[in-house]
Amino acid sequence: MSSVPCEICRQIISIRENKHPRLIAELETGFAMLGPSQFYRGYTIFLCKVDSAELHLLDRDFRIHFLEELTFLSEAVFKAVNPRKLNYELLGNQVSHIHWHLFPRHFNDPQPLLPVWQCEPDYLNPQIYGPSSDESRALKQQILDELAKTPVQVLKTGLD
Ligand SMILES: [Zn+2]
Repeated sequence: MSSVPCEICRQIISIRENKHPRLIAELETGFAMLGPSQFYRGYTIFLCKVDSAELHLLDRDFRIHFLEELTFLSEAVFKAVNPRKLNYELLGNQVSHIHWHLFPRHFNDPQPLLPVWQCEPDYLNPQIYGPSSDESRALKQQILDELAKTPVQVLKTGLD
């Protein structure tokens, strides 16, 4: 980590201080967060606990475990919201610290062939599509219920 923490390191600091309202679950290698906008219902972000820009720079055992946890989290999101397809995105063009975007693409998706970043920008606007606290709680619960059926170790939940 550089001397000035990146945006994701700052989020991780607030999660550790119990100050992050979008935490779904702390896993062993990362933090599962509800996306700030929920137009794509179930949108989840998985923040890597290690501030690395590239997968190949992660310690091999950690990386294998991280990708395994990502896969089980993806499965939990999929089963929680039953999309037509899940999009998995690891971009890092704006913030390099590894974080996966999991976008459920639903059957009624207005632009099903485009990556979400090329769709209507309002869909990602939390001012318009931010979930209510009830919706957010319900989604977290659904995802946590599905995570509980997988082998991942949930160290802490955002509902604790
Ligand atoms: Zn960072």
